[in-house]
Amino acid sequence: MDYQKILNTIYEELSHIDLQGEVASYIPELAKVDPRKFGMHLYVGKGEHFCFGDSTEKFSIQSISKVFTLTIAMQLLGENVWERVDVEPSGDPFNSLTQLEYENGIPRNPFINAGALVICDILVSNYEDPKKELLSFVRKITQDENINYDHKIAASEKSTGFRNIALVNYMKALGNIKNDVEPIVDFYFHQCSLAMSCEELAKAFMIYANNGKMLETGEKILSRTKTKRINALMQTCGFYDEAGEFSFEVGLPGKSGVGGGIVAIHPDQYSVAVWNPILNQKGNSELGMAALEKLTTMTGLSIF
Ligand code: GLN
Repeated sequence: MDYQKILNTIYEELSHIDLQGEVASYIPELAKVDPRKFGMHLYVGKGEHFCFGDSTEKFSIQSISKVFTLTIAMQLLGENVWERVDVEPSGDPFNSLTQLEYENGIPRNPFINAGALVICDILVSNYEDPKKELLSFVRKITQDENINYDHKIAASEKSTGFRNIALVNYMKALGNIKNDVEPIVDFYFHQCSLAMSCEELAKAFMIYANNGKMLETGEKILSRTKTKRINALMQTCGFYDEAGEFSFEVGLPGKSGVGGGIVAIHPDQYSVAVWNPILNQKGNSELGMAALEKLTTMTGLSIF
């Protein structure tokens, strides 16, 4: 398979199309990002990788970080995680409060904000310094000590993050939050601020494409069962109320973030990350989805 040729075709066909959406502005710092940025990076087995455009430029990974924190929580608690958060698609926007009321504070899944905040609570309970733990996990799976939080983005989100603060308070009132609200949202805003490039994200996600093993060292990070479960959740819940559309158009487990990044994997085949900051109405990168649709069509490699 000539992956580089396929990526070049995707770039040629998509880099000049007109987009309908807008860059996320509810986090003020994100509104400053150049909307023309476009990059893609694909890792296959044995460390071969292919790319185009701004694929080595760092951006705010936002909700993509929820896959990393879920991984850590599953390593800590195993099956007990599911007592605190469910595994069903929500069909609602990522920051919705409504289902919590009639579902007793148990979020539908760990990738909507409510679920990710419960996962934060678990990490805050288990670690003295959860920010340091998350960073060392991400640095390990990328083999890159330079990955860091963007404190400006974290502070920016904190200044307008009233919905997320409300979600934690609400779940605390319903008995599903154990710690104080402040350390939970502080950790959450930092995890979302992680700055990574498409190259770094594609490399990190190789553990999910490679049965839980790191590509370069072969070290087992995650059991086969946990890897399959995380991939199942990415497939059914990774794109919020657009998870069906993403399955329909692209056909891969994946995760998006409002920074405009999307990462997707094909078990045993590849891991791919794409970035363009313009979002559609559901908060997913419009160009990113189009690029991945082309990738699975041209390679013939979707999971279906
Ligand atoms: N930090 C963002 C928020 O909580 C993450 C949302 C996202 O990337 N979908 O609103």
